[in-house]
Amino acid sequence: MKIKLLPLFLFIFFIWLYLPYGSPVIVIVVDDVSPLHSTDEQREIFRVIERYGFNATVSVIPFHYGKSICDSNELVSIINSTKFEVAQHGYMHNYKEFENLDYPEAKRRVILGRKIIEGCIGKVYEFRAPWRSESRETKQILKELKYCDVTDTYIEHEFTWYLDSYRYPLYITFAKFELLIYGKFHIPYVLVLHVHAANYGEGIKFLNNFLSFAKSRNAKSKTLREVACEN
Ligand SMILES: [Zn+2]
Repeated sequence: MKIKLLPLFLFIFFIWLYLPYGSPVIVIVVDDVSPLHSTDEQREIFRVIERYGFNATVSVIPFHYGKSICDSNELVSIINSTKFEVAQHGYMHNYKEFENLDYPEAKRRVILGRKIIEGCIGKVYEFRAPWRSESRETKQILKELKYCDVTDTYIEHEFTWYLDSYRYPLYITFAKFELLIYGKFHIPYVLVLHVHAANYGEGIKFLNNFLSFAKSRNAKSKTLREVACEN
């Protein structure tokens, strides 16, 4: 009897899932924006997001292994040509940079990095630690500076990490399904892309397909700061 009811239950579930009730909230995050990465690849990702009219949070590394974001006029003007929100992504982005820093050093890097970004891009209101890993002291500093901490907000979804054609059909199907589920429960859906990894293989195809689907479902676009620090 129970087995017989299962197809009926699944049928009702999928009907419920596809009924347009509320709009999903999508939060697009582009991590590792840096002059050490190809400007063309960064432009390519930004243009796809803009094509569907969505906003995004771009995580900018202020001083990536000795190279300041302000050293690349081209990248700065690409970022400034968008309406995306900029987050400070650590300072140098070495491995788990903010995980074990003591208070003075963490504070120095937060302030220095913020100053660099403000020097060529403009005001920045949020901080995202590399590898989503930060010490207690870092959390404390961000609170003191009234800097929105977007290191760890909602569950993050990343499908475009060197995505090959074998995994593509499964990933795109699963991502669309997840977006609908999150929409039904009014939970922001955070989609993370890493520069370069997302440009590889089927990454851009995935992004186009997914955002086109999100648009067809009237997804509302928000930034990480909006879902983490605005009530
Ligand atoms: Zn990173």
